[in-house]
Amino acid sequence: RAKACGKGRFEIFHKDFHHKAVDAMEMEAALREALSQKAFPVWFQPIVDLETGKTAGFEALVRWQQADGSMVSPADFIPLAEETGLIVPLGQQVLEKALNTAAAWPCMENQPYLAVNVSARQFEEIGFADMVAESLKESGFEAARLHIEITESLLFSQSETATNSLNRLRDMGIGIAIDDFGTGYANLACLRKFTLNQIKIDRSFVAGLPDRPECMEIVRSVMELSSRMGFSVVAEGIETQKQLDVLKGFGCPLGQGYLFSKPQAGDNFFSNPAKSSDCLCTTVLQAEPTQ
Ligand code: C2E
Ligand code: MG
Ligand code: MG
Ligand code: MG
Repeated sequence: RAKACGKGRFEIFHKDFHHKAVDAMEMEAALREALSQKAFPVWFQPIVDLETGKTAGFEALVRWQQADGSMVSPADFIPLAEETGLIVPLGQQVLEKALNTAAAWPCMENQPYLAVNVSARQFEEIGFADMVAESLKESGFEAARLHIEITESLLFSQSETATNSLNRLRDMGIGIAIDDFGTGYANLACLRKFTLNQIKIDRSFVAGLPDRPECMEIVRSVMELSSRMGFSVVAEGIETQKQLDVLKGFGCPLGQGYLFSKPQAGDNFFSNPAKSSDCLCTTVLQAEPTQ
């Protein structure tokens, strides 16, 4: 394609490619270094019961801390970590840190669940389920309070290793959620074939509520199917009261988004011990966003 556009175009393409390759190599080296230093803080975002306003769970979201203290977003380094296989040790560090943090949360009336993102690449590792079981045991966190968020692509993997791992997690009582639902290839019918507990509606659809008819239609269909099939539903990226009202109208049970709280360091939610015993969400709403 570059050739068809003439010689000049080819050179630009070539130069750009070279830069990208060098950038990626530098970034891979930096990722390796950060891994050995365990320089990946795990932040948490509350998942809220839309009816009561109470916190039902927390999603663990990794950050990459730079020497100057700034945080790099996972969107900027997870893809490279997946390509290079570094997501395997990184994912393990995130899981261990998230479980250890959550195990130390104060006792609450309704024990919130912990949701951890896992890449398809991690499911290809033989021994992935053993690693999860070991991390649960070491932290003392209950398997039934752990959710693993997977992407639609994993459902289509023909891999026996991935399927076996998924089944083992399910047998351990761990919840399985489909993340970013609607952005991949999964359609509502094909979800029937798998044992899932939860669907997370992607933020791009929530953003279109109530003005874009196709977003309204997608959310409506997901709610219908989920109630028929017994899935729980989380709406991602709720930013406005209007979006919240529409979702409640559709009967959506759970949501997360900046309207409630941005992701924050885990101990921020519990900085006031007097408050953490009653309604956790009060504490959440009072905490200053640090992002
Ligand atoms: P995700 O799993 O869909 O997580 C939700 C993302 O939406 C988070 O971005 C969160 O900060 C952002 N978000 C939440 N509420 C709102 C909102 O109201 N408005 C807007 N604009 N954004 C909102 P974050 O933390 O940058 O993470 C991006 C993605 O990186 C995650 O998307 C997930 O796919 C991936 N990721 C994060 N941590 C991990 C991890 O430990 N392992 C793996 N494999 N992937 C991870
Ligand atoms: Mg997620
Ligand atoms: Mg998501
Ligand atoms: Mg998302």
